[in-house]
Amino acid sequence: MALPPDFQFSQSLLQDYVDCPRRFQLRHLRRLAWPAVESEPFLEHERHLRQGAAFHRLVWQHLSGLDLGALSATALEPDLARWWSTYQEHSPTRLPGRLYPEAVLSGSVGGFRLVARYDLLALEPGGQAVIVDWKTGPTRPSDRWLEGRLQTVVYRYLLVEAGGSLTDGVPPEPDGVRMVYWFPEHPTDPATLPYDSHRHAADARYLERLVGEIASREEEGLPQADDPRRCAFCSYRSLCARGQQAGWRPPDEDDSSEEIILDFEQVAEIAF
Ligand code: SF4
Repeated sequence: MALPPDFQFSQSLLQDYVDCPRRFQLRHLRRLAWPAVESEPFLEHERHLRQGAAFHRLVWQHLSGLDLGALSATALEPDLARWWSTYQEHSPTRLPGRLYPEAVLSGSVGGFRLVARYDLLALEPGGQAVIVDWKTGPTRPSDRWLEGRLQTVVYRYLLVEAGGSLTDGVPPEPDGVRMVYWFPEHPTDPATLPYDSHRHAADARYLERLVGEIASREEEGLPQADDPRRCAFCSYRSLCARGQQAGWRPPDEDDSSEEIILDFEQVAEIAF
């Protein structure tokens, strides 16, 4: 497929392709806005997205040096107030080196640009490098599932490839990198995912292959998702003739389909 030379890949874009090539086509090639409720109950979904974005903004402001008391006075909605309180008590401590909230890194893969925006990087030139990501959803996904997400793959890979731009040209060694997912609803049970040079080499091969596959496919042949459950929470489902009704997602109930929860998370981060 003829991708424009300035086309940029990101973890969410690659995840869309892996989950559903048709969604990748509609969202990232055609940039088609299709108004539909993604999940029910709609108002509760909207409220959660808004509070998730507000939480990311609060943490960023705190890590940027704004006064804690002044920030706390703005955390008034119940979920946000609770997350903010647990953040102050349990957020990851003993982070190495210097902190970079909302850092953006870019590199290249398969001849295209690869970009990532990190909630927080803690970097020690020539030493440890920690990626922290805030996840405000109700469930705590398994480490195994998180390990396979494109977010984990892209974030760790790109930090090794491009993190030197933040540390005077000294890139992090893969063995010194770890990624921490921290969940305000499960504040004492973060997921810590280590890294090493073997995984970095495997990630490089995987990303090259994935980008090469996307670039070589015919756009018209991109198929719909194999698993129709994905369509219940996708705004394109009426366009794809995969149902009119939004999936129903009780906001505070455990959901065994973790991938859907994290997609929900990504929307909150993008909103921020
Ligand atoms: S409705 Fe289903 S098939 Fe259509 S873009 Fe969304 S996930 Fe893919």
